[in-house]
Amino acid sequence: MRRRVRLLWPIVQRRYAGSFMSLARFLPDRSNAPALAAPWAPFTAAIPADLRDVPGERRDGAEEERVAREAPLQEFFALHREAQEFIVEHGKRYVRPVLPRLGAAIHAIRRATARQPDPARAVVADDPAELTAAVRAAAERIGISRIGFAPNDARYTFAETDAPQLPTVIVCIVEQDWAMTQTAPSDAAEMAAFHGYVEGMNRTAQLTRFLVSRGYRTIPQGFPGDGIAIHYGVQAGLGQLGLNGQLLTPEAGSRCRLLLITTDAPLVHGAPVDFGLHGVCDQCRGCVRNCPVGAIPQTRKPYRGVVKAKLNTARCLPVVVSASGCAVCMKVCPVQRYGLSAILEHREQTGEILGLGTDELEGYDWPLDGRHYGPGETPKLGDDVTRPKGLVFDPTRVAPEPGIHPITFVGDITPRRREHHDGRQVGRPASS
Ligand code: SF4
Ligand code: SF4
Repeated sequence: MRRRVRLLWPIVQRRYAGSFMSLARFLPDRSNAPALAAPWAPFTAAIPADLRDVPGERRDGAEEERVAREAPLQEFFALHREAQEFIVEHGKRYVRPVLPRLGAAIHAIRRATARQPDPARAVVADDPAELTAAVRAAAERIGISRIGFAPNDARYTFAETDAPQLPTVIVCIVEQDWAMTQTAPSDAAEMAAFHGYVEGMNRTAQLTRFLVSRGYRTIPQGFPGDGIAIHYGVQAGLGQLGLNGQLLTPEAGSRCRLLLITTDAPLVHGAPVDFGLHGVCDQCRGCVRNCPVGAIPQTRKPYRGVVKAKLNTARCLPVVVSASGCAVCMKVCPVQRYGLSAILEHREQTGEILGLGTDELEGYDWPLDGRHYGPGETPKLGDDVTRPKGLVFDPTRVAPEPGIHPITFVGDITPRRREHHDGRQVGRPASS
């Protein structure tokens, strides 16, 4: 009997995790959350010709299609359920203080999801350009750093989602606290990431309410979302992929949290933009040099139809778990620290990337030995860090174990297949 309870516990826990976590809102909040940065001004700097590549990323549509059909994307924590449990267990120091705010934010998106327009409503006939401008203005009032719009694409939706998939994805970016992030790798920096998710969920709930009040079905996805957020960030024209594998925004690099909303509102979609960030990365390579386990490749290669730098997750994950979320690759990134405008200005005057080779940018304190490492220096890591006892991570796994589904945040995940807005089937067949 006890064995059966132990085996069933992960399934039960996932089904009700969202509800359990939302109850944490009744706990006292002692997290000392940082003030949120102001919404970003438009990015206007000119991109020099020698940094230019292509708008967004190089992609092969036929290959994207083939891979999505043969190996649909899975939510990471459902696919690697044991790794997620290990991470939560080892991340208590920075997750616990944020739990009351996290619970309140989950509650906010659940409430926003539940209050939708009457399906029998008259069709609203807003002008798309005017509505898009109104949504942008509302997002700025609400305090979202930047928003963008992209078509919802079933190839980038996880095989199972608990949120209805409506035609347009609104990508909401919330800037993560600057000062806390510069202390990475540290519990404070990791806490800054969670505060970013909390603020992102609260603000996407508010933006959802705005669109619902205008008569449109609108569903926030919460954290960690139901699709590949960085894909939508690129397609909406909000940034490009860095060598560190993250979405680099011109304003704050990857020091941002991305939250997605889907809606049936007729919004004007953005398009990929060339911010010259591929060229900046090729001249910089700071994250490649400073990653403690060499998990970041020097060059981009095609992966699932997109040319990108693909991190070695099997090397990175144990370090993330052991070293307060690591994030050295975010800390040492000049775009994160100074922003692209300052980098372009400095490069025009000197030909160099701002901060490269300085301790201010590339130095960091390593939490596991208390030592400081300067530019290009990396700690020597033993097996206890690179292969911690009890961490199960199988990079060859392509589908979750039977009965394991993503944690439900806003809806109800069942093993049946569901319709994507574009008519494709996503999800596992009922027999699995
Ligand atoms: S999080 Fe740390 S280990 Fe992982 S890629 Fe970044 S620097 Fe490397
Ligand atoms: S550290 Fe340098 S190479 Fe790495 S993502 Fe940032 S700009 Fe690109």
